[in-house]
Amino acid sequence: MIENEWLFLIYLLAGCLFILSIRGLSSPQTASRGNWLGMAGMLLAVDGTLLALPAQNHLLIFAALLSGGVVGLIGGLKVKITALPQMIAILNGLGGLSSALIGLAEILDGNANVYEVSVALFVGGAACSGSLVAFGKLQSILGAKFGRFPLQNFFNILISIGLLCTWIFFITHPSFFNATILLCAALAWGVLIILPIGGADMPIIIAVLNACSGWAAAGIGFSLANVALIMTGALVGAGGTILAFVMTKAMNRSLWAVMFTRLSDKTGALDSGEHEAKSGSPIDAAFILQNAHKVIIVPGYGMAVAQAQHILQTMASILSKKYNVEVKFAIHPVAGRMPGHMNVLLAEANVPYEDVYALENINREFASADAAYVIGANDITNPIARTDPASPLYGMPVLDVGKAKTVFFVKRSLNSGYAGVENPLFYAPNTVMLYGDAKKVTEEIVEVLERS
Ligand code: NDP
Repeated sequence: MIENEWLFLIYLLAGCLFILSIRGLSSPQTASRGNWLGMAGMLLAVDGTLLALPAQNHLLIFAALLSGGVVGLIGGLKVKITALPQMIAILNGLGGLSSALIGLAEILDGNANVYEVSVALFVGGAACSGSLVAFGKLQSILGAKFGRFPLQNFFNILISIGLLCTWIFFITHPSFFNATILLCAALAWGVLIILPIGGADMPIIIAVLNACSGWAAAGIGFSLANVALIMTGALVGAGGTILAFVMTKAMNRSLWAVMFTRLSDKTGALDSGEHEAKSGSPIDAAFILQNAHKVIIVPGYGMAVAQAQHILQTMASILSKKYNVEVKFAIHPVAGRMPGHMNVLLAEANVPYEDVYALENINREFASADAAYVIGANDITNPIARTDPASPLYGMPVLDVGKAKTVFFVKRSLNSGYAGVENPLFYAPNTVMLYGDAKKVTEEIVEVLERS
């Protein structure tokens, strides 16, 4: 066993590495280094904890480390990048559950601080069950509208008051039984609060649940007097909270509205007269693109599904080098299925960072673009977000692709996107639909561009 002072130093070093890791992850150029620093910090924290524990516990701990490590490795290798939000939801849930279970064990041990443990039980329990519901929604096991009923907000207020009473009762009468009741109430509360939330708000909820699992870990860290848990819990809690606020800002919604305002299920169905979408071929598209002065590419979830980022980079490079076209990439903050999804894929395909623009920096440029090449994106371009207060997308800033002279939508059908809202831009006079898989269509355009 090592001395407490040494353990504290090891934890402090691990904490510094975590902070440097987050700093590294803030830009695609340094993200890989950030990842390594985070892994090194975690290795240090785990090794320090092992050295500080009595030797008779090592076998159990190694068994847990090995089984958790194997499951994590398989998950990391197998889960597709488009399914990462679901994986994060599961990991948040497990984090919350472990904090809550440690809280219960502490109560059994009889040396717990009741306030700190109550935070772990309440926040950890709610994060666990809420994350499982979020997983079910993201994986489409539960439909977006599943679990909604009339007067739901009123019912949820009553449930919240009930949970508060259980909490107070546990604090005033701490016992293992009352702790179990509090945990069960928190689990039920997590389900009921998250169940009615659907569609476009789920990314924000994932960030909130991530923050909750962090705060629960910090709470239990105080109870165990474990500096590493307090630090990492606080980092995850603060990171998740900041991310939730950044995302609410990007989607122009308040956290209160996300949690307690039920968005309409209206899908913005269009009049039958509007249902005339023009389609074109890759040859038509190649002709317009090679003769353009400025082209703005808008990637979305479908580009990730099709893994079209490499061929897209080839197309952009041919357009700029062979045909002298100015090519820019426009990134919406919630494009794809996780924050930074598109930036990661474009960086992987070696698209130069200076060609990639955030929504607020590029939106004005669509008016001067000859073509917008919207590849596998839908909701992030939907003008209904500006005009229809009843739409689930209402208030979210969108990319003004419709202002370009010609808009190409590369997708397989006229189907709606994640929020289930029809997009009137498909029927606009300057829109040309290029039906097909994003990678295949772009490959065909590249073939024509190379030939001509
Ligand atoms: P959308 O989900 O709105 O649209 C994606 C489109 O891609 C679909 O309409 C689909 O149309 C098309 N598509 C799917 N597969 C392919 C393929 N192989 N080839 C070509 N097209 C394909 O995605 P956006 O990126 O525009 O918007 C993101 C949405 O996801 C927003 O509503 C956001 O709120 C939500 N969200 C975002 C998260 C984040 O953190 N970024 C997390 C969770 C949700 P078709 O079927 O016709 O091909």
